Amino acid sequence: VFDEAAHGASAIIAWGNCASSGCIQGAYPNPTDTKPVHKIISGKPVINVQGCPPIADVMAGVITYILTFDRLPELDNMGRPVSFYGRRIHDTCYRRPAYDAGLFVEAFDDENAKKGYCLYKMGCKGPNTFNSCAVIKWNEGVSYPIQSGHGCIGCAEPGFWDAEPMYHHLPDIKGFGIEATADQIGLGLTAVAAAGVTAHAIVTNIQKRKLIKNQMDNDDINKEEFAVEEHQIEREEKRLGQKAHKLEKDKDNR
Ligand code: SF4
Repeated sequence: VFDEAAHGASAIIAWGNCASSGCIQGAYPNPTDTKPVHKIISGKPVINVQGCPPIADVMAGVITYILTFDRLPELDNMGRPVSFYGRRIHDTCYRRPAYDAGLFVEAFDDENAKKGYCLYKMGCKGPNTFNSCAVIKWNEGVSYPIQSGHGCIGCAEPGFWDAEPMYHHLPDIKGFGIEATADQIGLGLTAVAAAGVTAHAIVTNIQKRKLIKNQMDNDDINKEEFAVEEHQIEREEKRLGQKAHKLEKDKDNR
């Protein structure tokens, strides 16, 4: 039936994760040997409009693009239209400042959840899911899962049913980010200098974290306290700047 239906088509749109990558029936151990459309058909372009389900506006957008421009949209390496699947949900998520500041929900009913902190530790798949949910949203722009307090389940990615389970509390993020303290940064300064990150950026990030936290917690900023801290940050910035400079010089001498 599929071959017959596809016969005269110039291109095929595979709607949703089932058609694009097999979805739940293709999950391990895939007892029915489910295959996505692009593995059944050959010789025709297949556009994977991913998601479980795909966003209605994206579905309409893909058809509108083809009819308006009389050509197929640019696709990524998974056959998804780049204009809708070109960015990670994490890159457009309104909770991203909380992630950058290291402010995380630790349990679904904790205070941090009420404040709208980042859902990464609750298993949010936004950092490795490419889709437009955070921009176009759902139900005529009303909301999207993260806005409703639930992490992204990664439904626009192949094999998401077999991925690391949701609700598996993820550990603290290691590495260098806005959440690092000045001392941690000081210890890792060689790597920082090598990466071309300036001391200014580091201390600005520490300051930013505080501002983000204040804003999300609805705390009033104590201006006097903040001015004192700003002064301390400036001093710290100077100290780290000198240290980075010395490290650079030592490296040149070697
Ligand atoms: S809630 Fe998810 S997508 Fe949003 S910033 Fe946190 S990890 Fe990224």
